[in-house]
Amino acid sequence: MAETRSTCCYCGVGCGVIIEHEGDRITGVRGDPAHPANFGRLCTKGSTLHLSAGPETLAVRALRPELRTARETARQGVSWEAALDHVADRFAAIIREHGPDAVAFYGAGQLLTEDYYVFNKLVKGLIGTNNLDTNSRLCMSSAVSGYKMTLGADAPPASYEDIAHTDCLVIAGSNTAFAHPIVFRRVEDARTANPAMKLIVIDPRRTDTAEAADLHLALLPGTDIALYNSMLHVMLWEGLVKRDYIEAHTEGFDAIKKTVREYTPAMASAICGLSKKEIETAAEWFASSPATLSMYCQGLNQYAFGSHNNAALINLHLATGQIGRAGAGPLSLTGQPNAMGGREVGGLANLLSAHRDLANPAHRAEVAALWGVDSVPEKPGKSAVELFQALKSGEVKAVWIACTNPAQSMPDQTLVHEALATAELVVVQEAFAHTETCRHADVLLPATTWGEKDGTVTNSERRITRVRGAVAAPVEARHDWQIAVDFARRLGVALGKGELAQRMFPYADPESIWNEHRESTRGRDLDITGLSYAMLEADGPQQWPFPEGASSGKQRLYEDGVFPTVSGKARFVVTEHAMTAESPSARYPLHLITGRLRDQWHGMSRTGLVARLYNHEQEPLLHMHPEDLARRRLKGGDLVTVRARGGRIVVKVLESTTVRAGQCFLPMHWGGNAMSGLGSNTLMPSKFDPHSKQPELKHAAVQVEAF
Ligand code: SF4
Repeated sequence: MAETRSTCCYCGVGCGVIIEHEGDRITGVRGDPAHPANFGRLCTKGSTLHLSAGPETLAVRALRPELRTARETARQGVSWEAALDHVADRFAAIIREHGPDAVAFYGAGQLLTEDYYVFNKLVKGLIGTNNLDTNSRLCMSSAVSGYKMTLGADAPPASYEDIAHTDCLVIAGSNTAFAHPIVFRRVEDARTANPAMKLIVIDPRRTDTAEAADLHLALLPGTDIALYNSMLHVMLWEGLVKRDYIEAHTEGFDAIKKTVREYTPAMASAICGLSKKEIETAAEWFASSPATLSMYCQGLNQYAFGSHNNAALINLHLATGQIGRAGAGPLSLTGQPNAMGGREVGGLANLLSAHRDLANPAHRAEVAALWGVDSVPEKPGKSAVELFQALKSGEVKAVWIACTNPAQSMPDQTLVHEALATAELVVVQEAFAHTETCRHADVLLPATTWGEKDGTVTNSERRITRVRGAVAAPVEARHDWQIAVDFARRLGVALGKGELAQRMFPYADPESIWNEHRESTRGRDLDITGLSYAMLEADGPQQWPFPEGASSGKQRLYEDGVFPTVSGKARFVVTEHAMTAESPSARYPLHLITGRLRDQWHGMSRTGLVARLYNHEQEPLLHMHPEDLARRRLKGGDLVTVRARGGRIVVKVLESTTVRAGQCFLPMHWGGNAMSGLGSNTLMPSKFDPHSKQPELKHAAVQVEAF
């Protein structure tokens, strides 16, 4: 038996794994004791990875290129050459006739950094459009804008190690025990070592994480800003803010002070559905603790005011000086394994390489010079929701979807399915052929996946880890970066830019791509010019920044109180309570909130293959309070229709007191529903945050009735 060190492909914790394999078969997986993210531990999902990679899963793998030239016909197997020539010719024709903005690319936080880098260069450098977005838009873009608004850069300032040093941990909008289990093991360890440590959990639902809290603030969905503003009000009133820190290291405090004057505990209590005492206690614990750390995820990000949810929480850290010290700071938990790596290479419609901004002419010129092109387009590309709206309207005519399943994961599913049906050309590059999106593919390009591919990922704490292939690609599957390079060279020829494309995409392996990415970070906040593949091999995973000449990466940022803003000071952002995209009404009286289960991951294209991962929850169940069931003469196990403004689905109901009366909960993993043909995101509105453009996937107003 051979062993290969790699990384778990599920969540942003980024656990190290050791893959056990014989010949071309992965036989087992165990935690890597040397990996600083998990020290050998794995959750149920990570420890069953090998069961999603055996020959028995080949039945659902994409194994050969397939193509159809008319929608009403079935795809036929073709050679790679035929598939890529066809796609290059079609893309070139559309670009020639309608311009580069008539095509779009939609990727994933599951792609490796090297894959992301090639796609970004292909779209923004060779084609000349910024129409490249990814499912990270659905996941972390409000965390990005929250950090940039307040601290000046998209850089989580704390590390997992800070959990062991904190005296007060605030977990907001995250069921960490289920979604990031190995991080939660650290929380349990820290509380065992320091029984005086306080745990505050802010979540409408009494999740497993909330069960463990010293103080659970079960606020009404979407009322975080009112809560944080009120906590700041209490801190000011009680003299708990750090005036010397505010004076020396921040700006904009007077404006936020004026705003939060209105947010008395009485006022916030009415908005949030919390008691005044709960708000006052949370404020006192947050401010008075020697070190306060906050961890947060989709419960803050996935709202139409997600950026301000983030900023309001970070305001508390700045007002109390709870940042840049051991055990203190705001730490966003990344949903996907490499959303961070995607952000690093600029793989979103409004970003450029190495945290450069599209709106900055100097940054565009730097990237153009790095890539050897005349310019990079100025106009921002279409973000996820805008992209599918433009596909539906015909403004965008061809879409290339890589490593993700928007026909399940996007809000307003009806529109997404119509958009894919309307598009002139849908190319899907995928490892798994059974996803909802693959059904829409005119061209299906088989890609390698976990256990087969090489590259790097960056986890939530800025730690870069090598991902290594243990077995050969099955049948005709190719690596994502290879497919993008082969297409780029062909498209270059078709557009009369063959020589340029050859020059731009000379890569023979992932390392040569990563080396170019590394050079693009020189002098930037995420500078990794001191790292190499060889060093990651010899010394293991490393945190950025790690500039040339450094002996280690940085575990903690802003310890000197200097922030990457023009003035060097962090900024308070004025945040005001806002209404959710949909408010409950007489017709849609219930708040629906969504979340994850312990043993499933995202759209289940991989976890759904492992029988034992259904032992925890076998099917999607709508969790409803007994009072709401009684009012509708329903009982647990009944089939119900859940209807929102955007659509309906049919599921079984589960009696549960983990949600308050007036609220219900549905797991987000399932897609196609036997009754309705569409998944839970059918119910979700597509309204998005004006700063981050992240849609409100966490909340909808619904009605529930017997099916
Ligand atoms: Fe994988 Fe996340 Fe579980 Fe770690 S915590 S094993 S990265 S799913």
